[in-house]
Amino acid sequence: DKDKLRSIPITDTQSYPLESFLIPAHYINDLSYVMIPHGLIVDRAEKLAYEIIRDLTGPLVMLCVLKGAYQFYSDLIDKIQSLNCVYKHKSLQLDIDFIRMKSYVDDSSTGDVKVVGHEDFTRVKGKHVLIVEDIVDTGATILKLNSHISKFQPASVKVATLLLKRNPARTIEYQPDFVGFDIPDKFIVGYGLDYNEYFRDLPHICVINDAGKVKYSS
Ligand code: 5GP
Repeated sequence: DKDKLRSIPITDTQSYPLESFLIPAHYINDLSYVMIPHGLIVDRAEKLAYEIIRDLTGPLVMLCVLKGAYQFYSDLIDKIQSLNCVYKHKSLQLDIDFIRMKSYVDDSSTGDVKVVGHEDFTRVKGKHVLIVEDIVDTGATILKLNSHISKFQPASVKVATLLLKRNPARTIEYQPDFVGFDIPDKFIVGYGLDYNEYFRDLPHICVINDAGKVKYSS
């Protein structure tokens, strides 16, 4: 499918000066540059929403991987709901659900991915599931989550991720079904993504600087 090859590539040198956008004053000294402006993220989410309606079958359990994906999830659902109202030939019924995962401390994966809280997902049995992730880096989180959900015997499991990192150390061969942007191997924050719980309230996807890392280190 042509569309699936069209995740937007962000080159290693792609950057916008902080001065070109409105940045919250509480973060202005902690960032290097803007990698993906908020408006571009939302436009891309709209196209992914269109592809999801077109390609998937409802009722679809949309499973948000907390906390990082909450912003993407919210915008994606918003767009699906709007498109559902205008397309008469096809609409996608949604079932909203959440799961909490944790693996990062500071800016590196602990390699020990955990499902936080022991939720019962028996209700996904026989249903189509779309896992909504913020970012796939090593692939460990998504693999763990896939096998966790599969235990509850869903009809199908697909994955939508806003970001796919070009991590040369990624040993896991994994291609998500829907990808927003293909990004460089840098630690990014904003649009729901955090550094030790900070920066989730930053609208754009940005690269943190050394001062920011020190200020908000664990
Ligand atoms: P993986 O298990 O694929 O290595 O990493 C997936 C998880 O690590 C993501 O859900 C996210 O929580 C975190 N992560 C990976 N790369 C980044 C990054 O550049 N910035 C932030 N804030 N989190 C990241």
